[in-house]
Amino acid sequence: MYASYFLGPYLRCVSQPVRKDRTILACLNKECDKYSQPRTIPGSFCNKCGSPITEGTVQEEGSSVSPWDVTEDINDALCPYGGEFTRKFIDIYIANQSPTPAPREYHFDKYEPHAEDTEHTPESIQKDLDWFTTGFASQIDIVNGHYGSENVKVCWGHVGAYS
Ligand SMILES: [Zn+2]
Repeated sequence: MYASYFLGPYLRCVSQPVRKDRTILACLNKECDKYSQPRTIPGSFCNKCGSPITEGTVQEEGSSVSPWDVTEDINDALCPYGGEFTRKFIDIYIANQSPTPAPREYHFDKYEPHAEDTEHTPESIQKDLDWFTTGFASQIDIVNGHYGSENVKVCWGHVGAYS
């Protein structure tokens, strides 16, 4: 199992579902169990029904915002958290750096075993939030532009990615 945790300030962004056309190589026999399942080898045949694997367009539900477009616009100053293990229509961004001087550990990973404790106080949390909202004000503006400011919230807390 992969497990990774983050504790600190982050942006929580909600995107909207949209229908998107996607061009894929697949078995396009609608009767087949493998219909529209992406394949990579053109010119081969479906191993279920024997139909030729051809290029076609399928409609699928996608997200109104691509985190990769967002990070490009903000030069990776904020990073999407969780990689491929994110939830549908919820994108989390964390700073690509720790508050300086780094007072504590922000990332926890089972491959970096350690034991420690850190006390969090209302003051230390506010300090983190001030650092985040001030230091990344221009990037947060750009993120607001992608999601709509009503869909973007600055939070402080625990974020986890598990698979
Ligand atoms: Zn097939």
